[in-house]
Amino acid sequence: MDSIAYVNGSFVPLSEAKVSVLDRGFLFADGIYEVAAVLDAKLVDNASHLARLKRSVGEIALELPESLQRIEEIQKELVARNKLESGLVYLEVTRGADTGRDFPFPKGVKPTLVMFTSVKDIVNAPAAKTGIAVITVPDIRWERRDIKSVALLAQVLAKQAAAAAGAGEAWMIEDGKVTEGGSSTAFILTQADVLVTRQNGREILPGCTRKAVVKLAEERQLRVEERAFTVAEALAAKEAFITSASSFVQPVVSIDGKPVGSGKPGPMAGRLREIYVDFARATAV
Ligand code: PLP
Repeated sequence: MDSIAYVNGSFVPLSEAKVSVLDRGFLFADGIYEVAAVLDAKLVDNASHLARLKRSVGEIALELPESLQRIEEIQKELVARNKLESGLVYLEVTRGADTGRDFPFPKGVKPTLVMFTSVKDIVNAPAAKTGIAVITVPDIRWERRDIKSVALLAQVLAKQAAAAAGAGEAWMIEDGKVTEGGSSTAFILTQADVLVTRQNGREILPGCTRKAVVKLAEERQLRVEERAFTVAEALAAKEAFITSASSFVQPVVSIDGKPVGSGKPGPMAGRLREIYVDFARATAV
């Protein structure tokens, strides 16, 4: 059965949800997106996603067509209309459709706001138990990866290469260091039991799950270092894992075919996953 989507003020069947071919999201990737998880029919860590949305649109001088409060109401209505218990809410805002294809910002054009949901049992995902293989690819993206832009071609190519190799994620490498996953943040646990994840900056997206996991780990007196690391360091680590709204915490068991640690999901990734799921359930709205 068709799910319900939201397009510019209307709730419509997903198969009928349409935007113009002149939409700047389509023509120029002139848009921003967000993905929030849904657990127990509630939005997980949504304030963090909305704060990042506000920052991202601000960085490209795109005005949201609705307030953040209204956007959350629409997200909730979409979850309710779709009777979504567990899954994701995708939202995208673009600079709208002008009457032609001109690069500079159009005047008097209302931004496009689109949302839809997908069903996903994130808590019971098999990969949480088995772990995932990761491949590495050069990071060929632009220099403002802190903006959650819909210009995702580099990630499409990276994740396609991962899929073709039977891997669950691609880690992108720049100047010999891991930046992040195609759609996730990269972490390792060193032999000295230090959790390491790259510091925020223009080189990576500031992950909402990353932020929550770092805070939850620090609250439990775990040592966290925010710095770049190499693939060699990851291969010499006890554990590696990824975080994202769509996977929470997922163990990485190999990189480019070489085992990480025991080659099996590690206890720290398992523990942080449980802690994150508890946090997600307790704070969802
Ligand atoms: N890094 C990139 C490039 C991403 O696309 C994503 C999520 O899609 C993340 C990190 C993880 O961010 P979050 O935890 O907010 O989902």
